[in-house]
Amino acid sequence: MNYKAPRGTHDIFGLNVIRMNFLEQKAKEVFMRYGFVEIRTPMFEEAALFTRSLGQATDIVEKQMYIFEDRKKRKLALRPEGTASLTRAFIEHRMDISNPFGKFFYIGEMFRYERPQAGRYRQFHQIGAESFGNSAPAADAEIIILAQDLLVSMGVKEIKTHINSLGCKKCRFFFREALVEYFNSVQGLCLDCIKRLDKNPLRLLDCKIDFYKFNKVPRISSYLCNDCKDNFTLIQELLKSAGCDYVVDEKLVRGLDYYTRTVFEIKTNTTDSQDTLAAGGRYDNLVEEIGGQSTPAVGFALGSERVMLAVQDNVFFDSLKQYEKIFVAIADQELFNEAFSFAIRIIRKGLKGNKNISVFGPINNKSLTNQLKFADKIQVYKTIIFAKTEFKNGKVLIKNMKNNTQIETLLIDL
Ligand code: ATP
Ligand code: MG
Repeated sequence: MNYKAPRGTHDIFGLNVIRMNFLEQKAKEVFMRYGFVEIRTPMFEEAALFTRSLGQATDIVEKQMYIFEDRKKRKLALRPEGTASLTRAFIEHRMDISNPFGKFFYIGEMFRYERPQAGRYRQFHQIGAESFGNSAPAADAEIIILAQDLLVSMGVKEIKTHINSLGCKKCRFFFREALVEYFNSVQGLCLDCIKRLDKNPLRLLDCKIDFYKFNKVPRISSYLCNDCKDNFTLIQELLKSAGCDYVVDEKLVRGLDYYTRTVFEIKTNTTDSQDTLAAGGRYDNLVEEIGGQSTPAVGFALGSERVMLAVQDNVFFDSLKQYEKIFVAIADQELFNEAFSFAIRIIRKGLKGNKNISVFGPINNKSLTNQLKFADKIQVYKTIIFAKTEFKNGKVLIKNMKNNTQIETLLIDL
């Protein structure tokens, strides 16, 4: 075959489906307990929504978006992240007025044109949440604790939470000036950094090439206004009182323009590839910026594939509800219809009342030996054999595939 899944994308099957379902099921449980409800938004939006929300001088907008025109020349983009879409939906359905304290979660595919490597793909999955309408420190603390609980419930060990405050517009103005002055004094900045110095100097702090040159970079904490300082202190007090571990990381800035005040990342040291599992923060201006009533908000997203890399497989297996595999076989072809209707009956009603079964067979035109070989291959637990002699007496054979023993049973007893 000449076709392959596009670079950076993956078919998810076998164990990975088990892993992915496990994460999503855990997420739904935890979100439910925290009072977050699900929202599903389209996988593509007007490209301008992302450009406007994330900011022109960001990695995603500059080089990672999948942008295309539809037949009517509309400029659309596959969503690279969830916050802009959720905020758009929040405003479009007038929840900024009717439900300003909405707490939502989402699960779904995201698309970014990046160089594929372990934990970094072009189509990947995020699980995320947004809490609208609450500017109080409790909303920030709740989101951070929720993100931690989620990762712990998914079986991630050794998480480390980094938090920082980027201040409000006021503090950022002065910080920005100080940064520009500082960066202008640094020799040999990379091309991206030079380009961004004017438009978005904060982004230089996040540069994966030049970061080691920035030892004497000004610290945001020296520029926070009193309100922002108090706010950051209150959030930390709430985190401490909930027994939540974190470190203040002054170097942490997030890649997107919409963040205000709190930003955070949760890392693990159990993987040696991409170690940031989840990230988020507050974005108090976004709702208004894209056309809604001024509404504060805070949210986060985790990358499912990265979490899958960080979790030991036994966690997934332990979580599997045991479905017993049952195979319905026929020793004589003319019993096919009876065997088929029996298979449907146990699928619907269970076998001896046990509904946790997966039923396979019967298969037409295959010798019993071949049917049993197949049953072995898919690791069936019991095979129920329809054979003429026994069937005449209302009986079938039940073969235990593990210890190779066989008994006769009345069909009506099953
Ligand atoms: P990074 O610095 O690793 O590129 P990011 O800041 O771009 O991450 P966010 O936009 O905050 O990431 O997305 C939140 C989470 O989504 C990340 O912490 C990561 O777990 C996951 N994620 C982001 N980009 C990818 C990708 N290309 N492939 C897989 N997972 C990703
Ligand atoms: Mg990135």
